[in-house]
Amino acid sequence: MQTNSFGSESLEKNSETSPKILAEQYRQTLNKYNYEYYVLDAPSVPDAEYDRIFKLLQELEVQFPDLVTPDSPTLRVGGAPLAVFSQVRHTVPMLSLNNAFDDADVHAFVRRLEEGLPGQLPKIDYAVDLKFDGLAISLIYKFGLLVQAATRGDGNVGEDVTENIRTIRTIPLRLRGENPPELLEVRGEVVMFKEDFNKLNARQREAGLKEFANPRNAAAGSLRQLDAKITSRRNLRFFAYGLGELKIDDKYQRPATLTDLFHWYSQLGISVCKERALVSSIDELLAFYRQTEQTRDQLAYEIDGVVYKVNSFALQQQLGFVSRAPRFALAHKFPAQEQLTTVLNIEVNVGRTGAITPIARLAPVKVGGVIVTNATLHNEDEIRRKDIWIGDAVIVRRAGDVIPEVVATIPDQRPVTARRFVMPTRCPDCGSEIVKSGDEAIARCSASWIKCSAQRKGGLWHFASRKAMFIDGLGEQLLDRLIDQNIITTAADLYKLGFTSLATLDRMADKSAKNVIAAIEASKKTTLARFIYALGIRHVGETTAKDLARYFGDIYPMMEATEEQLLEVNEVGPVVAKSIITFFSDPLNREVVKQLIAAGVHWPKSEMMASKQIFSGKTFVLTGTLPTLSRETATALIEAAGGKVQSSVSKKTSMVLAGEEAGSKLVKAQELGVRIISEAELMQMLDHFTN
Ligand code: NAD
Repeated sequence: MQTNSFGSESLEKNSETSPKILAEQYRQTLNKYNYEYYVLDAPSVPDAEYDRIFKLLQELEVQFPDLVTPDSPTLRVGGAPLAVFSQVRHTVPMLSLNNAFDDADVHAFVRRLEEGLPGQLPKIDYAVDLKFDGLAISLIYKFGLLVQAATRGDGNVGEDVTENIRTIRTIPLRLRGENPPELLEVRGEVVMFKEDFNKLNARQREAGLKEFANPRNAAAGSLRQLDAKITSRRNLRFFAYGLGELKIDDKYQRPATLTDLFHWYSQLGISVCKERALVSSIDELLAFYRQTEQTRDQLAYEIDGVVYKVNSFALQQQLGFVSRAPRFALAHKFPAQEQLTTVLNIEVNVGRTGAITPIARLAPVKVGGVIVTNATLHNEDEIRRKDIWIGDAVIVRRAGDVIPEVVATIPDQRPVTARRFVMPTRCPDCGSEIVKSGDEAIARCSASWIKCSAQRKGGLWHFASRKAMFIDGLGEQLLDRLIDQNIITTAADLYKLGFTSLATLDRMADKSAKNVIAAIEASKKTTLARFIYALGIRHVGETTAKDLARYFGDIYPMMEATEEQLLEVNEVGPVVAKSIITFFSDPLNREVVKQLIAAGVHWPKSEMMASKQIFSGKTFVLTGTLPTLSRETATALIEAAGGKVQSSVSKKTSMVLAGEEAGSKLVKAQELGVRIISEAELMQMLDHFTN
């Protein structure tokens, strides 16, 4: 496997020369990266690459202490404040955190605590929380009023960003409560939620402006600029995690621990994150880390690890600091989701709808804990926009279950042998012409799936996939072989497969063949929503399939539906309606549906009808404006499920469906203790029974 050695390749090659020169090269590289990251908010390499070189320098400095210079990046925090902002001197320095990358680092941290606090260890409580990927902020409240906000800067001097901070709605301008402290310095992180980041980048793209590399840089770039109006439009958020200065009347108790502090912050109206815990052993620290790693993708914002801190402020003080970080805290980082690698080639993949997707073949690299060798490049326009060449050094990202993608290229490391990608004019599978219609970004194979086996394969993978017919054990490789050997052509052929035709395939053991046959058999019993989704109609995803199933109740009425009828279905617009009509106007598709049903594919019609009556005997009252449904549609959905809609609330009302600006009916429901539900909850109930 190739190591990520861009930007520092020469450094490692020269490592035989002299440690002094090497240390100087590391410093220069890190200083360049620091400047790009902290001052320009535009890093050119992923954090993992920065961390790697930082560690190399640290190790070298441990080995040769004489090489440590006073300005070494290993001793410093952040970057210099930008001159366009007024400067703010921090009374209590804003430091960085020491990092742990594995369990051994966590054990070493706890051992160091033991040395710093002899005899106390088993009793130490740790406040553990998330390591938000944003930028650190100090907020100064005087007698409850926000008077100053500053960035961390170089740890001692930061930038005055008070005006911009005032526009962040999750930061109170005035603290709640009667007796605010004389001076309170709240420390925390400004972040941009993933959804806001995606929207911002989409806007930047449309306006032809540069996109931000990640939510952290977008948050920093949105805050560290001169026009507070721009900050206000960016929807930044804030989480408090620490304390700077505190002057408080003696008659009030100072918080003694981080737990106290968070509790107090909540009372003052300062936002703190709920994802935190108080633990007291290494095992619990590691359990928090692992559990958070599992759930991080579900968070609305990005985190790059968790932070362990000694809970007691008295013990924190006893432990103190080393040059750039406190001894009482540790950031335990998750495996990096971005890494550097090389584009070895760009090939194209033909999808089930004929869509041609360029795929980067990459030098293998470990990203997010998994070896990545391919990444999607989405489409030709995207390759042009990101200026990705074959041979380029690129940043590849893999977050959660999302398909790895190339985030950016590093043009100043482009080798002379690099070449541009040229979109093929013919489908690599069937040789048909590749076309692009209108202003669609996606190029497609012009043949139908009957001619193009790549489309057939894609269609059948989709058909058999977990969220569609879920034919367990029928993997991509087996499907490919069945199609390549002309054993099957359509989805209906799957249900004609006999044990013999499977068992005669090369490398197919009897037992596996039996399992596959059993899985195919089991898949016959499905739901209408899954069946519709499995057909692979363009633009009909899982949710639309559920809406269609709920509306039509069976496949045949849907096959015969007119555009007007289809447009009545929740969330179905002209594009989807047209796509459904086109799909069913192809006699072959109709034939496949018929054959599937003839082969025994079925959904519990009676059950479905019964389940559609889940609201039988129940009465509903609607109030306010619902986010997406009209009153008519909501009423129709409830009635179709057996419920009744009434106009006034009484004790007998089963549920009140409330939207925005709900009025007196909502108040009455609350008074009478009638269950109040949102549109989303209604849809969930209906989904549950039609799925
Ligand atoms: P850091 O981001 O690793 O950790 C310290 C910071 O964590 C604090 O300042 C605070 O802002 C933040 N933080 C988030 N949640 C917190 C919590 N719950 N409690 C306390 N603090 C919390 O350190 P750093 O010094 O800001 O930056 C160093 C890191 O930045 C490097 O490890 C690297 O990943 C990245 N970096 C990347 C580049 C690049 O070119 N890609 C350059 C410089 C730095």
